[in-house]
This record gives sequence, structure tokens and C-alpha cells, in this order.
Amino acid sequence: MSTGRIIVVGGGIAGVSAAMAARDEYPDAGITLFAREPYPFYNKIALCAFITGKKRQDHLYFHGADGLHDYGIDARWGEDVESIDPGKNSVISKDGRQWGYDRLILATGAVPTIPVIDGIDNKGVFTLWSLADAIGVREALAGAGTVAIIGGGVLGVETAVELANAGKKVIIFEAGDSVLPLHLDRTSSGMFGEFLREKGIDTRLSTPAERLETRTAGLRVIHGGGGLDADMVLLMAGASADTRLARSAGIECGDGIIVDSHMNTGVAGISACGNCAQFDGEHNFLWNPARAQGEIAGANAFENRREATSTPLVIHLKMPEMPLFVCGRSISSERGDMVIDDRSGRAYRALRFDDRYRLKSAIFLFETDGFHEIEKIIRRALPVPGDLVDAGDIDGIVKTHSLPPGDDDYRSSGWVCRMCGYSHEGDYPPEICPVCSVGKDQFLAA
Ligand SMILES: Cc1cc2nc3c(=O)[nH]c(=O)nc-3n(C[C@H](O)[C@H](O)[C@H](O)COP(=O)(O)OP(=O)(O)OC[C@H]3O[C@@H](n4cnc5c(N)ncnc54)[C@H](O)[C@@H]3O)c2cc1C
Repeated sequence: MSTGRIIVVGGGIAGVSAAMAARDEYPDAGITLFAREPYPFYNKIALCAFITGKKRQDHLYFHGADGLHDYGIDARWGEDVESIDPGKNSVISKDGRQWGYDRLILATGAVPTIPVIDGIDNKGVFTLWSLADAIGVREALAGAGTVAIIGGGVLGVETAVELANAGKKVIIFEAGDSVLPLHLDRTSSGMFGEFLREKGIDTRLSTPAERLETRTAGLRVIHGGGGLDADMVLLMAGASADTRLARSAGIECGDGIIVDSHMNTGVAGISACGNCAQFDGEHNFLWNPARAQGEIAGANAFENRREATSTPLVIHLKMPEMPLFVCGRSISSERGDMVIDDRSGRAYRALRFDDRYRLKSAIFLFETDGFHEIEKIIRRALPVPGDLVDAGDIDGIVKTHSLPPGDDDYRSSGWVCRMCGYSHEGDYPPEICPVCSVGKDQFLAA
């Protein structure tokens, strides 16, 4: 089949996966990848471990300094695409050069949300979204005793725990009245908040930061009830899809760049994938879906060969002390459904079913055994006997779809780290998870 020139914009997991999949499917295609960041493809998930010194910078690179050239991909790290001209099938790079394409794949990722408050540009205020951010944070942390984190979502609490474990005093400012408000119900959120407090993390709920003032040393975070001093402030108030390039080219966007199941946008010859894309009304800021979408976009560059299906949101927190598994949309966000839960000590499990006994979402806190079965039930819409639901028998529900025991259980083409959600392809799991460093026994067949 006739191929041509592929341009990928974005050097994160979505863009790199797209370029690699395109290379596999279309060996003769010319592939150029533009990436604004000057660093070769790195592991964003490991940035928390990098800022506290658990990982070195060279540990973050997946293909060494520039392994993509080995695959015949012209990776241009540190080069922006400024604009797209869909009429001429070309993009303009920052230096004003025009580059023609037969297929353009947008993988521009997401940008962190910057709260609109006075003092946000002060020295000592950081985001943690890119390696450049992380290098700045790591330097500042070396001289910091107290760190204020604005935002009690997934990234905020994970970073807070990492910093507390590294001996920092941490204060979380959360505008809402619970931590992880998008993913936990009241009970699990309360339990998680308790865990943060036990770790010595000062968790201020219903406390939006209103102003950041510079002090002789450090900053003062002003909130409704007064002010608290910190040596530095981390902004972790969420993110939004980076649709700027797509919008300026007239490509239809909602919360993200709207794509169909082949990752095609509404404009001929242009697809999108990863954090910047919105498929089936959903978009998220997770690694594995970005990788999967990138692979589809790359494989479909010149012919529709693969198709995406809607998958539930899956979150694993990277903290062995308080494992958390969430699958599907928040349990508390939908009303009128059946919820069964059980709590024992630090462990809590909750399952939400619709009125036809279909499992829609789950929260497992502290004890996450059975998460793989639960994810399988939700992902494949597998049946669950109504009598088990009525009896609130969560163990029984897990057993209805237990994974086959024995060797077959240990051979798979895909593996997922139960601690951090890192996915690995191959017959066997890696000896050590490259993201969170747990051993191979923590990997489950995907
Ligand atoms: C600290 C941290 C921890 C995380 N932990 C987890 C986790 O545990 N589990 C999980 O699933 N996810 C996690 N995530 C989220 C995960 O890393 C992202 O979902 C994933 O990296 C997104 O990949 P992407 O390729 O879509 O976007 P990105 O990685 O954001 O890549 C997009 C790239 O495109 C570039 N770009 C944008 N516009 C242009 C342009 N015009 N020209 C050239 N280049 C451009 C950007 O500079 C960027 O480098 C974490 C994120 C962070 C920051």
C-alpha cells in the first residue's frame, strides 16, 4: 500500500507510541517527530521519584539519549510546531520552516491548571508537569523544609506522601471538603485523609489558597482563615488538554481534540491521541490510555487497522503504604445505583451497580486483592449474580471471575504493575518495575 510522510507533534508516551506503531506498520514511511521539550522521551510517571532524588535524570529516559533514530524516526527534541495549514497538508516549525505531511498525528498532551490567585508568578512557586519543571522543583527542594501543595487530587496527594517520606513538612490546601474528590466516596476519602494526617501531612480541607505572598525567606499562603509559611509552593490543581495547536487550525475540540474510534479528527489527514484527545466524550490524563491511543493513531496512519473501544478509568496510586485502586467513574457521582461496601480496619471496598446488576465502578483502599478481577468485570461488562450483590458479598463477586490459577496465569502478552499501573508487554513481567521499583510478584496478567 502507498504510504508517505508522517509528522507527529508531541514527544510524550502518546506521540512516541504513535511513531513506533507507524514504523512497525509502514516500514517505508518517513516519520518526523517534533517535541517542544529538549529532553528525549522520558518517564513522566517517575518525576515524583526524581524530585526527591530516588531516581537520576538518566534513569528517566526510555531509549537513552536518542534511541528513536535507531527506528528510523527523525526525532526533533526541543523543536516546536507553531501552526498547521490543513489546506496545504503542512506544519510550520518554530524556525519558520514548512514541513509537508500525508498524515499528521497530534499528541500535544495536557497543560497544568494555574489557579488565578495573586502571587502565582512569585519565585518559589512551581508546577510539576514536565522534566524541566521537575529539575527546578528538585533544586528548590534541596533547600526547603516546608512545602505547600495546592490541590488534593491524585498528583497532589502522591507528591505529598513522597515528600513526607523524604522528611519534608507538607501542607495540602484543598478547596473542596475532601481529598481525591473526583475518585473517592465520602468514607474512603475520609480514611485517606486520616492516612495523610498520620503521615504528618497537614491536610487543610475547604481551604482554597487565596494569595501567595513573598517573605524574606520563602512564601506565605494566605487562606480564608489566616496564612501559613512554606519554603516553596507546588501547584497541583489539575490539568487540561492542550488543544491550542488544533483549535488554531480549525479542528473540532471539546474538552480535548475530538476523535473517532480510529483516532481521526474531523479534518482529513489529521489524527490525535493521548492527553490532548477526547474519545467517546471522555478524556483523561493517564499514561496507559495515552499509550494505547498513540498505538492506534500510528497503526492507522494510512489505513484504518485498529479501533479503540471505550475503557473504564483505572487509577492505581503509587504508594505501597496505602494502595488504592479505583475503576470507573466516582461512586458518589451517580445517584439511584446500588452500592455495596465493606470496611475492616484500614481496608475499604465499595462497588457500584446499575439497576440491572451491572458493575459500573469500584474503590479498593488498602486491601487491593481482587482488583484485577473487578477491573475485568467492569471492562468486559461481565455478569454478576444478583444474589451476591444483594448479599453484599464482595469476595464472592471477585471469585465469580477469578483468573485461572497455575502457569497460564503467569504467561501473558501484557502485565500491569499493581502498585503504579505501569504496563509491560512480553511473556513474563519485568524483574523490577521501572516506574515504582516493586518486584515482579507485584505484576498481574493484563
Ligand atoms: C508527576 C506526574 C506523575 C504522573 N503519574 C501517573 C501515574 O502514576 N499513572 C498514570 O497513568 N499517569 C500518570 N501521570 C500522567 C501521565 O504521565 C500522562 O497521562 C502521560 O504522560 C500523557 O502522555 P501524552 O503523550 O499524552 O502527553 P505528554 O506527556 O504531556 O506529551 C505531550 C508533549 O507534546 C509537547 N507539545 C505540545 N505542543 C507542542 C507543539 N506545538 N510542538 C511540539 N511539541 C509540543 C509537549 O511539550 C509535551 O512534551 C503523571 C503525570 C505527572 C506529571
